[in-house]
Amino acid sequence: MHPESLMMSYGYKPELSEGSVKAPLFQTSTFVFKSAEDGKAFFEVAYGLREKENNEELGLIYSRLNNPNLEILEDRLTLWDKAEECAVFESGMSAISSVMLEFLKPGDLLLYSMPTYGGTDHFITHFLSSIGVDSIGFTPDQSKGEIIEMIDKSGKAKNLSLVYLETPANPTNQLIDIEMCREIADHYTQEQKNVYLAVDNTYMGPLWSSPIQFGADLVIYSATKYLGGHSDLIAGAVLGNHELISRVKGIRTFFGNMASPHTSWLLLRSLETLKIRMEQQATNARKIADFLNEQETVEKVHYLGNLSPESKNYSIYKKQYRSSGAMISFEIKGGEKEAFEFLNNLKLIKLAVSLGGTESLAQHPATMTHIGMDEDLKSKIGIKSNLIRLSVGVENHEDLIYEISASLEKINTGYITQEI
Ligand SMILES: *Cc1c(COP(=O)(O)O)cnc(C)c1O
Repeated sequence: MHPESLMMSYGYKPELSEGSVKAPLFQTSTFVFKSAEDGKAFFEVAYGLREKENNEELGLIYSRLNNPNLEILEDRLTLWDKAEECAVFESGMSAISSVMLEFLKPGDLLLYSMPTYGGTDHFITHFLSSIGVDSIGFTPDQSKGEIIEMIDKSGKAKNLSLVYLETPANPTNQLIDIEMCREIADHYTQEQKNVYLAVDNTYMGPLWSSPIQFGADLVIYSATKYLGGHSDLIAGAVLGNHELISRVKGIRTFFGNMASPHTSWLLLRSLETLKIRMEQQATNARKIADFLNEQETVEKVHYLGNLSPESKNYSIYKKQYRSSGAMISFEIKGGEKEAFEFLNNLKLIKLAVSLGGTESLAQHPATMTHIGMDEDLKSKIGIKSNLIRLSVGVENHEDLIYEISASLEKINTGYITQEI
């Protein structure tokens, strides 16, 4: 069956919860063992002293190790990405930093795509570097040959352990070829040392992008965004095969950064409407992009549905994605002043960072989400002072377009023709 058909039932047995049609919130820190022998058996498996036997289920122990809400959520998430296993975290950043700390040791080399999420970038360039993990960043315009040359020239090629990417890149929607990165990882894999490939799939997943299909070992989400979808929680997720997710869960047990029962419960509710929300958001985005394309006050629209068939990005787009998504950024005529005027005029669309929620949000990357970025890189990847990023929600597209139109008009004429 399709994942959307299973989001209401998969992994949950009503008979274990008084027939409740929905999974109750298991707001408990610890679980009662039926016998001391059971407790011992559960701990042996949890600590990896032995593998589970064929019909054995890992018993519930303590909510840092496992909890029904967390486990049902993890089982349901595996369906979208066709992954063997999933680990859910208390934030996207805890998912990302835990993966990096599990798969990178002092002396290792990380290859990562730029631009990456601000928090990820800070973790790589400030924290990982302070514990002796080296890193090399590459940009979407670089070819496989150029990237390999950079790695070879660094003199650290034999230490490459992890390739990390984020595609589409935020906020300009540049694309990176996941299969190409798999080839780079394989190029540096040695008999005694795997080079793993991790993909941050927050922007287009899980509905429109399945990185495992293109060779990713680990798929990472900020579940705060589309998965949560209502801008009311912070969470993260990592998916992959049993061996790798066991390692991720191992480090999570000791960092203690698993999602709480309540957050997991909220996410279970969110997943029931994931597909219809995302589809409505993408439909709205298409209409808004069409409108923006026509505006004289708009210089350029960055939207996957606008890629020209001749561009390199277009072939990656066709191969890797099933939709043009619901993220648009656009450059308005003018600079920061005009961009701020536009943002300050909005009412229905909220001026806030984050993305993927039911309500539309707008922000100014150059002075908000990307303010910490190196100026050279900012200009290289096109984060200009007139750039605005829109996360399109589920509202009626006519109202969104009306509001955008009124806001643009105000910049032009100095007044709003009609209050909204
Ligand atoms: C928001 C975001 C993150 C960080 O997630 P949090 O849930 O805020 O910790 C990581 N990657 C991308 C692409 C994001 O948009």
